[in-house]
Amino acid sequence: MANSKYEYVKAFEQPDLLLPNTWIVVRIDGRGFHKFSTKYNFEKPNDRRALDLMNAAAKAVMTELPDIVIAYGISDEYSFVFHKSCALFERRSSKLVTTIVSTFTAYYVHLWASFFPETPLSAPLPSFDGRAVHYPSVQNLRDYMSWRQVDCHINNLYNTAFWALIQIGGVDAKSAEKELSGSLAADKNEILFSRFKINYNNEPEIYKKGSVVLRDYELVEPGAAQELIDEDSLKTVDGVALSKTQEENDKKRRAKARITVQHVDIIKDEFWERRPWLLS
Ligand code: ATP
Ligand code: ATP
Ligand code: MG
Ligand code: MG
Ligand code: MG
Ligand code: MG
Repeated sequence: MANSKYEYVKAFEQPDLLLPNTWIVVRIDGRGFHKFSTKYNFEKPNDRRALDLMNAAAKAVMTELPDIVIAYGISDEYSFVFHKSCALFERRSSKLVTTIVSTFTAYYVHLWASFFPETPLSAPLPSFDGRAVHYPSVQNLRDYMSWRQVDCHINNLYNTAFWALIQIGGVDAKSAEKELSGSLAADKNEILFSRFKINYNNEPEIYKKGSVVLRDYELVEPGAAQELIDEDSLKTVDGVALSKTQEENDKKRRAKARITVQHVDIIKDEFWERRPWLLS
């Protein structure tokens, strides 16, 4: 394209390349969803339809962006993990974040009616913010994921007790808050059990553990050999591995794999050991 005298303005753009060889997490979060959840009468503490909608939008994002390895969602937030070798958009932070945020938001709005058929959306429409953070080691990345799942647990236990006091106990929000302030996890479990006959352990896993979205390959049996040997990846020509072919096969396999949503522990080693392809 011909140069114009205006083209110098391009030089004002700042580079925002994320560091190479680091895990990238893009976390998005709904804007003002406390108010949004009131407007659409979300059930408290957990509206299952709203969580299913978040999960459906996250699945759509993962389908459109095969570079995403795994995603984890709670409440109005979702974290999407890109492999440390990811080269999408040359690892430009703003490109990665804005593409995820707009793809997610578009699907959230598009799929709304399937989950809330009786309540059409009206302005102000739902929107999400996003940020990219990189983590240099697998340990840092796993600690990040653990941090979000611990947050899910702490918030859900609190919210379950808080809303039981209000919905079953008949107290107002202020008294419920006062009663729970400074309480330990054991106290909340005790309030739920002795006052409301609720065993927190029996609450649905989706509320207690959040949602993990991943590509469904075959699980590795606990204790089995850690290497996943893909026949295609063993192809060689005159003894030289066809790394390009392997890369393409991996890509194809990723694109073909079914995407599933699970509500499981991602803090313990077992989850990662049984799915060695995630962090390899
Ligand atoms: P901000 O714009 O700063 O993120 P926010 O109001 O979205 O403000 P968050 O800390 O993100 O604040 O909290 C999200 C809130 O949305 C929750 O506290 C809860 O009230 C509500 N919410 C989100 N998902 C659900 C759900 N599935 N069921 C019930 N309430 C929900
Ligand atoms: P990238 O993802 O890199 O932005 P792109 O295909 O969107 O790739 P752009 O440089 O952004 O490439 O160009 C957008 C293209 O979309 C245009 O070249 C044109 O082909 C098409 N397009 C956009 N708006 C219109 C329009 N109103 N009418 C016809 N074609 C359009
Ligand atoms: Mg926020
Ligand atoms: Mg929010
Ligand atoms: Mg939030
Ligand atoms: Mg374009």
